[in-house]
Amino acid sequence: MVEISNHMPTAELQALDAAHHMHPFSTQSGFSKKGARVITRAKGTRLWDSEGAEILDAMAGLWCVNIGYGRDELAEAAYRQMKELPYYNTFFQTTHVPVIALSQRLAELAPGDLNHVFYAGSGSEANDTNIRMARFYWAQKGKPEKNIIISRKNAYHGSTLGAMSLGGMSGMHTQGGVVQNVHHIDQPNWWSEGGDMSPEDFGIERAQQLEKAILELGEDRVAAFIAEPIQGAGGVIVPPDSYWPELKRICDQYDILLIADEVICGFGRTGNWFGSETVGIQPHIMTIAKGLSSGYAPIGGSIVCDEVAEVVGGDEFNHGYTYAGHPVSCAVALENLRILDEEGIVTRAREEIAPYLKEKFEGLTEHPMVGEAKIVGMMGSIALTPHKESRAAFASETGTVGYMVRERCFANNLIMRHVGDRMIISPPLVISKEDVDLLIARAWQSLDEGMAQVKADGLFKPA
Ligand SMILES: *Cc1c(COP(=O)(O)O)cnc(C)c1O
Repeated sequence: MVEISNHMPTAELQALDAAHHMHPFSTQSGFSKKGARVITRAKGTRLWDSEGAEILDAMAGLWCVNIGYGRDELAEAAYRQMKELPYYNTFFQTTHVPVIALSQRLAELAPGDLNHVFYAGSGSEANDTNIRMARFYWAQKGKPEKNIIISRKNAYHGSTLGAMSLGGMSGMHTQGGVVQNVHHIDQPNWWSEGGDMSPEDFGIERAQQLEKAILELGEDRVAAFIAEPIQGAGGVIVPPDSYWPELKRICDQYDILLIADEVICGFGRTGNWFGSETVGIQPHIMTIAKGLSSGYAPIGGSIVCDEVAEVVGGDEFNHGYTYAGHPVSCAVALENLRILDEEGIVTRAREEIAPYLKEKFEGLTEHPMVGEAKIVGMMGSIALTPHKESRAAFASETGTVGYMVRERCFANNLIMRHVGDRMIISPPLVISKEDVDLLIARAWQSLDEGMAQVKADGLFKPA
């Protein structure tokens, strides 16, 4: 047996990783040429790698470490719970204290009559639950044919077969097929798709695609509309201000369920507890995960309104995960929510750090390769372009330039992701103003270096 530890040379760790660990969303064969960066520890907004580099994590892991790394209280909550009751299920008329306490707390935090929680191990699983729950709800009401779910192109709802089908990532759909009866409308991405329209008109047009789809498919066929309040993995697409009010009008007018996928937006990311509050909607179901435990333990779920819970609860819902309401994850999530609340982290993000970050982040539009900068609360994106006025794309395959800049960020010890040719951030909510300054300085430097490379490669020209 090989003894594997932090003290091994990086190259050996990378070789073992490439040999035995299959990475998500990666070209596996690439790891034998260029090893994965080995992250060894973290504190606050910082990561350290096996070479000793200190990295500023402007993505909060995968949008999830809202309270920052290294909070002992969460470790202790997990330790205490594991000793007392490491596992018990919630099937067959059993329950336990951590799941009761977390459910009560979520009912308190969630807006309106979202008072009931169905747990999952992740956001993807929760969205699979939502597909089945929305369809079961209408079947229970005598309308089994009301089973189409409308979603949006370039939405991200997870990676299981169901969640992936809800999502609008064509690169995922083509690998292995999709589940039936999911319909996609266009996304509100004005920068790339708005053409000559004003952002406001474009927002209305994109929202009205929902109404058109409901009328075409038939109101009696459409079960639900699902959307992220602000699209995350699609590139932090902040819709025009006109978009959500129009969607809300449509959802209120037709008899369909509104599912808000709050996996990223929830738990302070947009400056409120939930993105639904930020965009002014009252969904029937909310998907939660990520920031619920700040990523310290895997947990997800669906927060369900009174009426849906009552109808679904009227018969046996043949659905559930072994780790639904896992006591350790629930204990960790509760402690995370306590800290977010008692330390005023959500309020501080909204009133202090988000405005500061917005001002600095929008300053990046002065860089010659940056078109728009969009930010809501603590999630933002910039669009890279060779020509700002025409919002042109580069004369290279989408993502080529974004990847170059991402690599420069990596080299400059800043974790900033690219989605196509957009660069995105979603830092821990506890980030300090000094760290915001550092983030912007490193981003600027990486943009400079990236642009030099783009120019050297002859790619700094419109498509
Ligand atoms: C990450 C994400 C998911 C999937 O959550 P997992 O925990 O990765 O399964 C679903 N919806 C949104 C909006 C997400 O960002």
